[in-house]
Amino acid sequence: LRNIDNEHVWHPFTQMQGHRDEEVPIIESGDGFFLIDTDGRSYLDGVSSLWCNVHGHRVPELDQAIRAQLDQIAHSTLLGLASVPSIELAEELVKRTPADLTKVFYSDSGSTAVEIALKMAFQYHANKSPADSQTRDLFACMQHAYHGDTIGSVSVGGISIFHQIFGKLLFESVQIPCPVAYHRPEGYTEESYLEFCFAELERLLAENHERLAAFVIEPLVQGAAGMLMHPAGYLKRVRELTRQYGIPLIADEVAVGLGRTGTMFACEQEGVTPDFLCLAKGITGGYLPLAVTMATDEIAAAFEGAHTDYNAFYHGHTYTGNSLACAAALATLKLFDENRTLDNVRETSAVLTQRLAELKEHPYVGEIRHKGVMVGIELVADRETRTAFPAELRLGHQVTLAARKNGVIVRPLGDVVILMPAPGMPAELVEQLCDTVFAAIDEAIQ
Ligand code: PMP
Repeated sequence: LRNIDNEHVWHPFTQMQGHRDEEVPIIESGDGFFLIDTDGRSYLDGVSSLWCNVHGHRVPELDQAIRAQLDQIAHSTLLGLASVPSIELAEELVKRTPADLTKVFYSDSGSTAVEIALKMAFQYHANKSPADSQTRDLFACMQHAYHGDTIGSVSVGGISIFHQIFGKLLFESVQIPCPVAYHRPEGYTEESYLEFCFAELERLLAENHERLAAFVIEPLVQGAAGMLMHPAGYLKRVRELTRQYGIPLIADEVAVGLGRTGTMFACEQEGVTPDFLCLAKGITGGYLPLAVTMATDEIAAAFEGAHTDYNAFYHGHTYTGNSLACAAALATLKLFDENRTLDNVRETSAVLTQRLAELKEHPYVGEIRHKGVMVGIELVADRETRTAFPAELRLGHQVTLAARKNGVIVRPLGDVVILMPAPGMPAELVEQLCDTVFAAIDEAIQ
C-alpha cells in the first residue's frame, strides 16, 4: 500500500517527492477518538481529522443514521428535485442559527461555501441594482485569513504563498489588519496596536465602502492563520460598520462553528447576525462532505420575482445536498443535544486552560492562544523579542513527528502547534493529548 500511495496519491499541500521521505501512517479504521493504522497502531486524533470530527469515529448513532438513509437512497439531485433529508436539515439549521438566517444553500466543502457566499453577495448587488454590478467589485477580508482553496476563497485569503503563486488569477481585496497584539510590528505597544487596527478597520471601510460587495471574516478566531484571536468587541464593531455602510457580512464559521469556541456558533458570543453564514467541516460530524451557505431573507429577496436570466443564482454542484451527508448532519446535531456536547466543550476548555498554564513560563513558548477546543501554541526562539526559530528547522513539524511517535496526531501551522480536540472528546483524553504534546515540544527543541 505504501508504495502505491507514494506513487499515485497526490496528497494536499504535499510535494509528491516530499511526501515519500516520511512514513505517514495509513489509517485503516477508527475507534472513538482514536485512529488505527494498517500496522495496528492507534493514535489519539488531536486535530479532529483536519478539524471536522465532532463526536468521534464509528459513533453508533451516526453510523445508524447513515445506514438508515442508505436503505432509502444515497443521493438525488437538488436541481429540479427536492429530498427529504435536505429539507429536514434546512429546518434544523434555521432553528439553531442566529435569527434572520433563513435560507440554506448546500454545497460540499468549506471552500465552496465561501465561494458561494462571495458570488451570492456579488450578484445580490447586481440584482438589486444592475448599476452596482459594475462598481461593487471589491471584497474586504482579514490579513492572514484562510477561507479555502478555490480562486475566490484564495482571493479573500491572506496566505502569502497562495498569492505569490496564483496572484494573476485572483480578484482584488482590501486586507484589514489582523488585530492580534502578539504579532504587532515594531514601534507599537499591545494597546496602541489594537487601537491602530480598530482605526484601520474604520478607515478602510470608509474609503472603500462604495466598491465593497461584502466583508468576509472568521468570527473570533482565525484558525488556519495560526489560531489568531480577535479582541472582544471586534466582530461587533465589524457588524456595526458593515451595517452602517450597507456591506453584507459573510461569517466563515467553517472552522469555528459547531461548538468549537464554546457556543454552537462563534457569532453568538458577540450577539452578531451576519448576512451569510458558511458552515462545513463538523456539520456531518466529520463523516461526509457537506457544506452550507446560509443567507437572510433580505439577501434572498434580491433573487426572487419572475424568473429572468439574472435573478436565479447560477451555481450548483452534482452532489449538492447529498442525502447521506444530510442524514449524518441531522444525527450530528441531535447528538449535540443528547450528549450535551457544548457542556463537554466547556469542561474540556477548562481542562485546557489549566494544563496550558503549565507552559506559561516555558522558555520557547511565545504565546498560547486558546478558546473552547481551539488551541495554538506559538513556539519562538526568543520570548523577549518574539523572534521565530529559523524556518529550516521546521520545529512545528518536528513537534508533530515526536507526538505521533508517542501515539498522538497533531498538525502544525508553521511553528504554531495546533490542538483541535473534537468537541465531544472526554476530559481524560484531552489530558492525554496535553501530556504527549507538551513532552513532544521539549523533545523537539532539545
Ligand atoms: N474556511 C475556513 C475558516 C477553514 O478553516 C477552511 C478549512 N481549513 C475552509 C474555509 C475550507 O474548507 P474546505 O477544506 O472544506 O474546503
